[in-house]
Amino acid sequence: TIGKIFDLTVKKFPNKPAIYDVRKNIRYTYQEWCERVNRLANALLKEGVKKGDRVSTFMFNTEELGTALFACAKIGAVFNPINFRLTSEEVAFIFSDAAPKVVIFEKALEPVITAIEGRFNQTSFWFIDADKPDYASSFQEKVTEVSPQDINIEVVETDIYAFIYTSGTTGRPKGVMHTHRNMVDQSVLCIAAEKLEANDVGLVTAPMFHCAELHCAFIPRVHVGASNVILHQFNSKTILQLFEQEKITKLFAAPTMWNMLLQEDLSQYDLSSLKLGLYGAAPMAPSLVHALHDRLGISLIQAYGMTEMGPAITFLSEKDQLRKAGSAGQAALSHDIRIARTREDGPSDPDDLVPTGETGEIIVQGPCMMIGYYNREDATEKVMYKGWYHSGDIGYLDAEGYLYVNDRVDDMIISGGENIYPREVEDILHGHKGVLDVAVVGQPDDRWGETVTAFVVKKNPAITAEELDEYCKNSDMLANYKRPRQYVFCELLPRNASGKIQKFVLRKQLEELLTPDSS
Ligand code: AMP
Ligand code: MG
Repeated sequence: TIGKIFDLTVKKFPNKPAIYDVRKNIRYTYQEWCERVNRLANALLKEGVKKGDRVSTFMFNTEELGTALFACAKIGAVFNPINFRLTSEEVAFIFSDAAPKVVIFEKALEPVITAIEGRFNQTSFWFIDADKPDYASSFQEKVTEVSPQDINIEVVETDIYAFIYTSGTTGRPKGVMHTHRNMVDQSVLCIAAEKLEANDVGLVTAPMFHCAELHCAFIPRVHVGASNVILHQFNSKTILQLFEQEKITKLFAAPTMWNMLLQEDLSQYDLSSLKLGLYGAAPMAPSLVHALHDRLGISLIQAYGMTEMGPAITFLSEKDQLRKAGSAGQAALSHDIRIARTREDGPSDPDDLVPTGETGEIIVQGPCMMIGYYNREDATEKVMYKGWYHSGDIGYLDAEGYLYVNDRVDDMIISGGENIYPREVEDILHGHKGVLDVAVVGQPDDRWGETVTAFVVKKNPAITAEELDEYCKNSDMLANYKRPRQYVFCELLPRNASGKIQKFVLRKQLEELLTPDSS
């Protein structure tokens, strides 16, 4: 169980630095952190939290989120980290679905909670005030009142460790249920892929409520007894300073974060401690992989996956970065990946596969597959059809068994009967020096069904649509029908907290652009 792996690390490395919370400027060794975890576990028990009850966190990246995770694990409570970017009503939806017994929230996010708190009178709300050096808060009071003694509650590997609500680009969020066993297996395969060791120092800057950071970086590091430096929110300059100051060896970041780091003057910082960069959670253009490789000079690996699978299901290893740039890599340890023919009228059939090199839906089996969505048997049945998780991603396997992820089924553009994967077009435009960021969506078209529109964030303010069009025409990688017929320049692309572009927002913007009089 997760509680057990925590205790084993504490036993093995009591005096090793476990956590440095940058904003609070507080450091804990594993022994000190364990006392804090035990105190919180006892405080939750005192509050009446029982095995199987949910405990939610609603905060930026802070030590308390990690403390809550392990405290819940020890008492068999279900940990439920909530996206700090959600609005009151979105949070209210999760509260009514998960019915948490305790919510631990951050003072800075209080307005979101205040608006809905009254509707949940079965729930206790505890706040942390991570900005205050003296650190007074209701959370702190609760944990000070109780003993740091270890807890004796039987938790087994098939117990549920967490509900993680998916980012859900459409529809209401669904609570992905993972067991302790799922999480321990995921941790082990990440440790192997990232070659994590006790002397690693990881920087936590991607959101901890999302499983990419939490399951592929934070927990595996605790598992091996490495240290975690927790930064409450992404900031390029602070990160580069921390590399130097804390001798960071490993970092996970979404592609957009890596891109932001590359915009800084790297020559001003000593990055020599950095050994490995992990990227994933969204597609990264090959041109960015090359830029990272050349400018940072570090080893890189990619992970591809989804909350429902733990998340990682493939890794692109260090040695394959350039040779296989654009690929998401090979199946992770103990995972089986297939490409199934998509169907109009239901989930694709795991026995109806497409030949090597052809595209279809990516389906997968592995040891960390969720046990289902909480309260959503219908949705669970659809995505776990015949025992295979149906990702909703389109992709193909090459002859060497490397996976290429084209796009979401729903984001595919069909123009003149031809399928266009936005990612192919995005990857080309990412290669243009004047482009900082780009997203491609389909625009309804009477003649072609859809045509390609590119939303572009300029790096060089002087670039024009004509110039980009010329660039695409000259690319030998882009068929004519895939060439964007319209460019929309914008300041920023709408992304969710894990770095994925919200294409539905762009499609809506486009609709509004096309019907200016509709209001
Ligand atoms: P989530 O629901 O937040 O777990 O996101 C899962 C989705 O993110 C996947 O189904 C993919 O569409 C996308 N994704 C995750 N990792 C990658 C990657 N390395 N490359 C491309 N897309 C990715
Ligand atoms: Mg998803």
